[in-house]
Amino acid sequence: MIAVTVQRRLPEELEALLDINTAAAQTQLVHHPLLKEHRVELYIKRDDLLHPIISGNKWRKLKYTLLDALNLGYDHIISMGGAWSNHLHALAWIGDSLNIKTTGLVRGEPPAIESPSLQDMRDWGMQIKFVDRQTFRELRRFSDYDSEPGRLHAGYWIPEGGASSLAMQGIAELLHEMDDADTICVCCGTGTTLAGLVAAANVQQRFNGFSALAAEHVLEQEVSKLLGPQTGEQTNWNIIYDYHFGGFAKSSPELNRFIDDFEQQTGIPLEPIYTGKMLFGLFDMIVRGRIRPGEKLIAIHSGGLQGKRDYN
Ligand SMILES: *Cc1c(COP(=O)(O)O)cnc(C)c1O
Repeated sequence: MIAVTVQRRLPEELEALLDINTAAAQTQLVHHPLLKEHRVELYIKRDDLLHPIISGNKWRKLKYTLLDALNLGYDHIISMGGAWSNHLHALAWIGDSLNIKTTGLVRGEPPAIESPSLQDMRDWGMQIKFVDRQTFRELRRFSDYDSEPGRLHAGYWIPEGGASSLAMQGIAELLHEMDDADTICVCCGTGTTLAGLVAAANVQQRFNGFSALAAEHVLEQEVSKLLGPQTGEQTNWNIIYDYHFGGFAKSSPELNRFIDDFEQQTGIPLEPIYTGKMLFGLFDMIVRGRIRPGEKLIAIHSGGLQGKRDYN
């Protein structure tokens, strides 16, 4: 029998190798006339500043998953996502930096003109395989690292958006870097980030998730599933579906104007897929009196700014 020795890596080592800058991801007070007028104290946790390429919450979700893959001796990671997936984009960059093979199963037909995100993924050596929508839906069933799609490609399998309990462990670290607030606001795609925050927080802490998808009621089930039987019944979180602008990656001139104005007033960049929708929604709720004067809010900037290029 051949004994395979795997060099065990520590989380700090991995962060140093990838130049992750946790110290830069501060929580800052937002200055905006509308907040002043309504006497709302809004902070933004700048997780977009963790790294220039790896989007904020994508690093949080990948950290312990990646360690697991490396420490199990895998040199190939395979995952799935849309053609604009910040998750696949981050994974491709990490693969290139750590010299491990990556494969991305991308939903839909190969586009006539590839987005800047897809071009990056290829430049970083990710093998891209387009899969039809039916196959893509079926792939969503697989969650374990050694489930079928992984075995098929002799790689470590990461489910869509990096959703797993190891991802939630990385999100818990994000929570512990912040102060308490009356309400913490977060963008939702798969809901893993929200679930990770709720799991790590005490029950007094309230959370508002802003869905980037028209997925009414689906996300609640996903989050409850990730939380498990102990915490799945907790009522300190809810998901708001009023600001998805027609669905994932759908936008509007009104949203784009809001983002431009917000950036000008605050100096904080947003993108239209996740963070722009959350802040638009939060500001709208403030105007409509759905946030009480004097409340302290923290909105988590989950990154994703690289995806903005795909819109221009
Ligand atoms: C992927 C992503 C999300 C969604 O995170 P989930 O954990 O899937 O809910 C939110 N914001 C940004 C910027 C993202 O890239």
